[in-house]
Amino acid sequence: MILLCSNEFKVIKDSLPLGANLLAVSKGHDHELIRKLYGYGQLDFGESRLQEAIPKKSDLNDLKQIRWHFVGKLQKNKVRGVIKEFDFIHSVDSLPLLERISRISKEEQKSPNIFLQVKFKDDPNKGGFLKQDLLKSWSKIISLNNINLIGLMTIPPIALNSYQRKDLFCECRDFANHLGLKDCSMGMSNDWQEAIKAGTTWIRLGSILFGKRQI
Ligand SMILES: *Cc1c(COP(=O)(O)O)cnc(C)c1O
Repeated sequence: MILLCSNEFKVIKDSLPLGANLLAVSKGHDHELIRKLYGYGQLDFGESRLQEAIPKKSDLNDLKQIRWHFVGKLQKNKVRGVIKEFDFIHSVDSLPLLERISRISKEEQKSPNIFLQVKFKDDPNKGGFLKQDLLKSWSKIISLNNINLIGLMTIPPIALNSYQRKDLFCECRDFANHLGLKDCSMGMSNDWQEAIKAGTTWIRLGSILFGKRQI
């Protein structure tokens, strides 16, 4: 298995502009790699499956400063578990899902940090709000309780080249600004530099940090 040495990690971290945060997406990787990266000073980790995250979290519960981000497709029946286990949810892709999160967060006395996933281009492989639907639902969205709505998240369709990716990220940044949202969760191992140019506040890096996924 491959993992950056602490100096390589520092080079990436130091290259990020002010306001751009790094989320280490640890899905598919062993908890010992998370521990190692935490030792380099990384505190934010992303997982995409609740069943995989729960045992890892319990192996790492001595790491008191760690913050957990849910980045995967969120199924209805996993909402309560995700609310209990995660501080951030990046992948809220519909109004019914957001309403469910609001209701269950209230019961659990939580107020998770939420990103709404938006689809700026047609993409049958991805979920997400269409821009016009998000605008239509906006007054409803901001009236929901126990939701700390912080930003938008997007994943470009796989076929886009780097210029098109940057354009799409810029569109996401502009739309977040229009809605008065501070954060944009955008940019992965293959396009984080384009996302930085467009004003991302959270890049989500997996393979560049951890190497090929193991599990
Ligand atoms: C897996 C995953 C990542 C990290 O992907 P890499 O290409 O390995 O950097 C980022 N975001 C989401 C939503 C993911 O599922």
